Amino acid sequence: MPSSLKLLVQSRHPLISIETRDEERATQEVRKIAAELSRPLYEWSMTSGMRHLSEKGTWLPIAMLAGHQTLSLITQAAGLSEAGTPVTKAVDALKVAIELPQSTIYLFKDLGPHAKDAQIHRMLRDAAALGERRQSNIILLDSLPLPTEVKRLTIPFEMGWPTAEELEEVIKQTYSKIRRESMYEVTATLTRRDMDQLVQTLRGLTRSEAERIVASAIYRDYTLKPADLPVILEAKKAVLGAAGCLESVAIDFTMDDIGGLDNLKAWLRQRRDGFSKRARDYGLPTPRGILLLGIPGAGKSLCAKAVAADWKMPLLRLDPGVLYQKYIGESESQLRQALAQAEAMAPVILWVDEIEKAFASASAASADGGLSKRMFGTLLSWMQDHRHPIFIVATANDISALPPELMRKGRFDEVFFVDLPSVDSRARILSIHLERRNRIPAAFDLEQLAIASEGFNGAELEQAIVGAMYSAFQEGCEVENRHLFEELAKTRPLAVLMHEKVLELREWAVNRCVSAD
Ligand code: ATP
Repeated sequence: MPSSLKLLVQSRHPLISIETRDEERATQEVRKIAAELSRPLYEWSMTSGMRHLSEKGTWLPIAMLAGHQTLSLITQAAGLSEAGTPVTKAVDALKVAIELPQSTIYLFKDLGPHAKDAQIHRMLRDAAALGERRQSNIILLDSLPLPTEVKRLTIPFEMGWPTAEELEEVIKQTYSKIRRESMYEVTATLTRRDMDQLVQTLRGLTRSEAERIVASAIYRDYTLKPADLPVILEAKKAVLGAAGCLESVAIDFTMDDIGGLDNLKAWLRQRRDGFSKRARDYGLPTPRGILLLGIPGAGKSLCAKAVAADWKMPLLRLDPGVLYQKYIGESESQLRQALAQAEAMAPVILWVDEIEKAFASASAASADGGLSKRMFGTLLSWMQDHRHPIFIVATANDISALPPELMRKGRFDEVFFVDLPSVDSRARILSIHLERRNRIPAAFDLEQLAIASEGFNGAELEQAIVGAMYSAFQEGCEVENRHLFEELAKTRPLAVLMHEKVLELREWAVNRCVSAD
């Protein structure tokens, strides 16, 4: 956790804002800072009202005393409760924070939605205007973005995501807690390497999400063991899927599973150690990313998986389309959060799928009030400025929709064009997919099959194998050349159906992109 929150508090900034999903972690940090600085701490939320942390370390609800000229408070300890009005309303809580005890830290949880109210907005402005004179801090801790006009009054503090050390601590604490409290024997069989992997898997989650996932893995059989790693990865995928537009992708392809695309593969292999200290010491710039442009089904997505496998880095898929559909009104802040999350999980391969769909209207006069333009700007400046070991693999099918800024030199290390596979690549792709289905490629006439599949993309070649296997299965025999030839003859490849579009794309790419094959 960065220590600068403490500095902000120490320098008595009147209004500090923290936007995060990780309320628990932020709360812990504020409490720690209050204790370290020996400053009184008051916390407010709509459900618990305003509470004060007593010297004994217990939380006491507080109430306003009625009938007094000036505002005065009592702690609602036993027996006193009838004397005052509990401070539950946001407006009362703010009144307390503005008028009462000086030198105090006030933590407001989810005040943002109330800040649309004119009175509350005014009170926050007053608090900001009082400046450092009051010696108190109001900290606004919100899970949703604050209204811009309120945020402007505050000093925003970026929490970032839990570090590897913090996550290791979460794992150990969760384990110890369950061990202490469970009636069954609880064990752990993780080596140092397993622990590092577990921490890596949990990166990009909030503290409480990590805790929940680890706890449920332990509760399955009261052990924490290496076999829990895939379970934890699955749980994380679910959390990320529910939380935003990032998805952890399972890597089920290697470089050797890609037929053709030799240029691209060689380029990637050359940069495999690009993030290493050795490369830095040598004076090499870190790889930033590639744009793969091409015919649908030619293997662009497959490449994203293969880079992750080859470079031994986790793969995250950013679906910018989701940003628009799921988070109307919050798209920009969600995109920023997703990028921050990717940073927290670095080193990582960030796959931006169908980039043109998300930012298409950024190139034209858009009907979305400039949203896609702003989102696109956010992504571009992040790509330029971030210093994390993150390699972007952006894929696109329709270049005409892409804003020209994206293609400018220096944005991506290289822009590759993924064309339809050549005859040799088709033979290789057929061979790969036969082998993946436990067939012996040498038993087939790959050369002739490759010739017969002119114009097919990788996905269609794979489908032809699946179709041929079904026919053979129905006949009750093993799949043979004839099944494959029949299947190929039946298929009208996309490139034939979209002949003109393919030609146009090729023409466009010829002088602008490097051929992937
Ligand atoms: P789209 O733009 O439609 O998403 P794409 O170019 O990303 O398509 P992929 O999703 O990577 O294409 O390809 C679909 C499937 O086709 C892959 O999962 C893979 O099984 C097969 N495939 C495509 N190209 C190749 C290739 N070069 N080598 C091996 N398999 C391939």
